[in-house]
Amino acid sequence: MNYKAQRGTFDILPEEEGIWNKVQQTCFETARLFGYRYIETPIFEESGLFERTVGEDTDIVEKEMYSFDDKGGDNISLRPENTAGVCRAFIENGLHNTTLPSRLFYYGPMFRYERPQSGRYRQFHQFGIECIGDDSPDVDFEVIKIAWDILSNLNFNNVLLNVNSLGDSKDRFIYTEELKKYFSKYINDLPKVDKLRFERSPLRILDSKEDITIKISEEAPKTLDFISSESLGHHENLILNLEELRSHDKKFNYKINNRLVRGLDYYNKTVFEYTSDSLGPQGVLLGGGRYDPLIKILGGQDTPAVGFAMGIERVVNELKKNIDVEKNYVDAVIIVTDENLRIESVQIANNLRNSNIRTIIAPKKSIKAQMRFANNINSKSAVFIGKNELENQKLSVKLLQTKSEQFEIDIDDMNQLKKILNS
Ligand code: AMP
Repeated sequence: MNYKAQRGTFDILPEEEGIWNKVQQTCFETARLFGYRYIETPIFEESGLFERTVGEDTDIVEKEMYSFDDKGGDNISLRPENTAGVCRAFIENGLHNTTLPSRLFYYGPMFRYERPQSGRYRQFHQFGIECIGDDSPDVDFEVIKIAWDILSNLNFNNVLLNVNSLGDSKDRFIYTEELKKYFSKYINDLPKVDKLRFERSPLRILDSKEDITIKISEEAPKTLDFISSESLGHHENLILNLEELRSHDKKFNYKINNRLVRGLDYYNKTVFEYTSDSLGPQGVLLGGGRYDPLIKILGGQDTPAVGFAMGIERVVNELKKNIDVEKNYVDAVIIVTDENLRIESVQIANNLRNSNIRTIIAPKKSIKAQMRFANNINSKSAVFIGKNELENQKLSVKLLQTKSEQFEIDIDDMNQLKKILNS
């Protein structure tokens, strides 16, 4: 075949639909339980929006955006993430005039030109939460708890919450200077990519995946030693909530991770990630934090906010290790034993579907081949339609997945069949 899916993209095939739906439904239902409402923003935006919010020096904006001039000459980008779009929508639609905080959730595809590997794609899906208009650590906890409830409802074991605080922008400036002082001692040992980070964005050295840098970072100054008393109070309040959660939910666990700084420019105070025990990018299931300065940077009123984005592929990949993909998708295959009765079969198929019985009419082939078809697609039953059946106003039904029982039902009582199929 001449055409292939683009590198870093993939198809979601029918048997995976169940698992994808389960994840999406769990996310939506959990968010709604916390009073969050759905928002959807366009998949492309003016490139400037991401340059301004994600940050011009970030990998995302520098190397990973799908940007192009459209036919009208505007420079637009496929969204690499959705916080910027949600904040733009918040300001543009005057949501600050509604009762705050705005509790919002989104779901959809994001695009980053990254080097594909396990858990890292060029088109991927994120579910995300944004709580806009409340600066209390209680909402940091709320957002972290929503993520936990989703993972917990999906039966995740072995996930760990990593938290840290970056303080406010003043704290970050002071901390960055300290960090520069520390890493300047090791500048010749740092790999090229981290030397570059040293020049442009020292905080991100802590995010490095290079072994030598990770080793050097172990003794680096910690943000928590440099943040203001206000930021520290905020952090400690969050930790009290986390301790409380841990005391009554034995599956929940967290650690303070001094190296957690997150890739985007707009975070302040709380940052967090949930990790599974899988190695590499696949192990980071979701990340988030507080981004109080962002709405103002975009020209809105000064409005604090906090949120997270969950990588749906990563969650699905983890679940696939434990859940079988959906095999059963048909309840009844109609076996037409007399080819003159095709029209009647269509009618009966419709009656079955009206009773919520998922039904396919077997292809026009021999009875044996029709039965093979029913077995091959894992149908729960075969429903026979022939002259005798129509004369007696009965349908013969054979259950295919249990002991091959065979019985008759009244032709106008599909509920009888439904009960048997569900039992
Ligand atoms: P970020 O927007 O970079 O903070 O990422 C939030 C979450 O989205 C991560 O924790 C991942 O689960 C997921 N994610 C980010 N980039 C990718 C990618 N290229 N492929 C798959 N999932 C991703």
